[in-house]
Amino acid sequence: MHTSIAGGLPASFERARALGCSAFQIFSHNPRGWALTRRAEGEIAAFRKMAGDFDISPVVIHTSYLINMASGAPALWRRSVDMVAEEMEIADSIGARYVVLHTGSASGDEPAGARKRAAAGLAEVAGRGKWRAGLLLENTAGERGDIASKIGEMADIVDRVPSGLIAGICLDTCHAFAAGYDIASRDGLAILAGEIRKHLGKRSLRLIHLNDSKGVLSSGLDRHEHIGEGRIGIEGFKRFLGEPFFSGVPLILETPKKTEEDDPRNLRVVRGLLEETASSDDSTSGVVKSRHDAL
Ligand SMILES: [Zn+2]
Ligand SMILES: [Zn+2]
Repeated sequence: MHTSIAGGLPASFERARALGCSAFQIFSHNPRGWALTRRAEGEIAAFRKMAGDFDISPVVIHTSYLINMASGAPALWRRSVDMVAEEMEIADSIGARYVVLHTGSASGDEPAGARKRAAAGLAEVAGRGKWRAGLLLENTAGERGDIASKIGEMADIVDRVPSGLIAGICLDTCHAFAAGYDIASRDGLAILAGEIRKHLGKRSLRLIHLNDSKGVLSSGLDRHEHIGEGRIGIEGFKRFLGEPFFSGVPLILETPKKTEEDDPRNLRVVRGLLEETASSDDSTSGVVKSRHDAL
């Protein structure tokens, strides 16, 4: 679950633990601002101690929404490069394993050139240091100007960045669906898995943002919905979670939080689906194997 850091970093850990999570994600600061919060050493130490005490891993940082590595405006591009480097620094200080990044928007420019700018920015970050945390590029919903909503486009960026910074990708199910991957269908799943395998390799898939989609297939809308209540639907998620290519990858929910009940309910739904798909694996292992071969 993505959990709030209100009350300090350790509070986010407590929230994840109270929900029974085995992985969680945070914003290290207000994601709609540039200001970074300087954390007291005691706060960081308390967070690190919890990571040692509780079996919750990976811990993930989601970067600010203001970052645009593809920006043609030099000041914004520079600020974005600096902030990604700072988030990597924060991740190492608190012991987070991954930093998730939306690479950005071409903002009216030609996308291939914008991807080159994003890659150049990431190359600069890569040159600034060696981090234990790995950067994950997240697929976006295909809104106007998005430069990395398709797997091939993400690979175009990854391929231009020196190794050592990018650990792989974070696949957001809502964004994939909105960008035209019909992950609710077996054919759509096979296409997506095939593209990941072809362009980046299966090992690049390090994290999944599990969200249903308010928008229809190919809508380009980045609007998350509760699991099973959107256009992907409960059957769609059952198919997705039962697909061997996507199993074994940590899942983080970024579903809406309107009431206190929302997070526990979404988690219950996902855990129920995981149990169902696990038990059907046992009873129909022959079928599962052939599906696996088909991908
Ligand atoms: Zn996401
Ligand atoms: Zn989103």
